[in-house]
Amino acid sequence: MEKIRLGKTNLMVSRLGFGGIPIQRDSEDDAIAVVRKCLELGINYLDTANAYTTSEEHIGKAISGRREGLIIATKTLAREGNILESHLKLSLQQLGVESIDLYQLHNVSDFDTLDIILAPDGPMPVLEEAKRAGQIKHIGVTSHQIDVAKELVKSGRFETIMFPFNFITCEPADELISLAREHDVGFIAMKPLAGGMLDNVTIAFKYLLQFSDVVPIVGIEKVHEIEEIVKVLEGSWRMTEAELKEMQRLKEKLGTKFCRRCDYCQPCTAEIPISLVMDTDSLIKKEPPEVVFSGHFADELEKATNCTECGDCEERCPYHLPIREMIKEYSDRYATEKRKYQEQKMSR
Ligand code: SF4
Ligand code: SF4
Repeated sequence: MEKIRLGKTNLMVSRLGFGGIPIQRDSEDDAIAVVRKCLELGINYLDTANAYTTSEEHIGKAISGRREGLIIATKTLAREGNILESHLKLSLQQLGVESIDLYQLHNVSDFDTLDIILAPDGPMPVLEEAKRAGQIKHIGVTSHQIDVAKELVKSGRFETIMFPFNFITCEPADELISLAREHDVGFIAMKPLAGGMLDNVTIAFKYLLQFSDVVPIVGIEKVHEIEEIVKVLEGSWRMTEAELKEMQRLKEKLGTKFCRRCDYCQPCTAEIPISLVMDTDSLIKKEPPEVVFSGHFADELEKATNCTECGDCEERCPYHLPIREMIKEYSDRYATEKRKYQEQKMSR
């Protein structure tokens, strides 16, 4: 598989990266088989996070004895140096590696968090020390908010930025990608299939492949999924007239009800994490049920039932989404799926 340079890291990564969220749903054997199939197909760039339950451990087992030539990326949600230290230690241990090629601060998506991570007593000095000590090779960041992402790129503290990018969430093509290029910050595209909303893999990847220095990472749960995507890479990358038309049709159809997770709709008076609620389907599809239907996700997603339908959020959404209606739909779907999961659990 073709390799491209990942910004100032100078790492040469495969044209497609592997995203480690969905393998959380696999058995250990299946997860290992998926990762090894990706390696066999020429993918050398594997991305995960310590927050993805079994993902690091299963990737660690899959790459055991075949670490050479691989680029291992993981992330932490830590906002304090001492917590970051313990997360890094755990990631090294779970992945079974002596160093991590790219260590990213996960989901820096608002300006308060940006200030916290860049503060002199924040996590950056610990991260930079870990780099000097060789525990990590490069420092990156991930974000869902375009204005925050631009500041992160301009800060000069990060070698890569990961941001959602696909033909529906196409805003990065306006400015963010060229800004990253200007600062030589590697651009990694998360959600190439719009969190599972795009099932036309050919069009989704042909769109992204036009951006010669962007590396999409795709979450894979089953071997056949990666085989299908790699076939697109092996064929012509040029979109046919029919594909261009279909892309336009999908943009029009999905765009009116597709949340870009920009969070311009906040603050919600009922403290509903609107963009997270809008991600319900993708979470149900990709995360293990025990993660989605209990603990943090359950606490956050169930806040959707508190919507007072005040409509303030809709006035702020630049995409004019019918947020009230969508919140209701997602909330009902979440409740139905949770009930089904609980019934299945009881009957076991
Ligand atoms: S309509 Fe619902 S989601 Fe929107 S701001 Fe009001 S309470 Fe929050
Ligand atoms: S609902 Fe609109 S404003 Fe809120 S995160 Fe989604 S796209 Fe952005």
